[in-house]
Amino acid sequence: MSVFLITGGAAGIGAGIAARLVQDGATVIIADKEPAVCAGARSVICDVTDEDEVQSLIDGIAGAEGRLDGIVCNAGFMIRKPVETLSLGEWSSVLATNLTSTFLLVKAGASMLRASHGSVVTIASTRAHMSEPDTESYAASKGGLLALTHALAVSLGPDIRVNCISPGWIDTQHYRIRPEDHAQHPAGRVGRVEDVASLTAYLLGPDSGFITGAEFILDGGMTRKMIYAE
Ligand code: NDP
Repeated sequence: MSVFLITGGAAGIGAGIAARLVQDGATVIIADKEPAVCAGARSVICDVTDEDEVQSLIDGIAGAEGRLDGIVCNAGFMIRKPVETLSLGEWSSVLATNLTSTFLLVKAGASMLRASHGSVVTIASTRAHMSEPDTESYAASKGGLLALTHALAVSLGPDIRVNCISPGWIDTQHYRIRPEDHAQHPAGRVGRVEDVASLTAYLLGPDSGFITGAEFILDGGMTRKMIYAE
């Protein structure tokens, strides 16, 4: 049975990915700052920015499950603040969670992933390519994550495949979605956590064996839509 680790899986997209992988029959470990409530998954409290906590997480999987077939590096958050008032601490906290955590997780998990010929999926964002104002730390972290993805793919292949999903707007129940929010998407709707979960399951599995170092834009077509003000 495959063993997958999902970070930030107590809520939102990560919870959706974890539920899908459990449904597919995998053994799932959810690492989050909060306890995760997902039937069939093992919940571990872990701050993925802390190297010692990440090492303990991986050691715990080696001890309990004895193997690791994939890591989904999903934990992340955004600070919206004008660059003139964004503190160095705030900048660093976003980079630590959204980018450095993937380095820590892959560093600690590489030997088990090599043994299983495993796969890593990073969750970046279309904001790696385009921006709204006042999102510098988030955009930089996601652009860095995209670059880290292809660097890892080249370094760790052929044993380990590493791919990136860049979601657009995914409904995680934080906002009330209006009809016009759906309608502006070429696909006709805002994304769902299930959209990210199904692509993640594919990238973790054997059917994607020839894919590594790649980015998948999952945005209902929004980054392909030309917008001019009238
Ligand atoms: P949520 O805030 O709903 O869930 C993120 C989870 O990660 C939370 O449970 C959070 O815990 C946890 N987390 C945050 N920091 C850490 C940490 N240091 N260690 C462990 N767990 C942590 O986010 P989403 O589901 O919306 O986003 C998931 C990923 O997808 C993120 O990387 C995000 O940038 C990306 N993304 C999301 C999009 C969207 O539209 N939703 C679009 C594009 C990308 P807590 O709440 O306690 O902080």
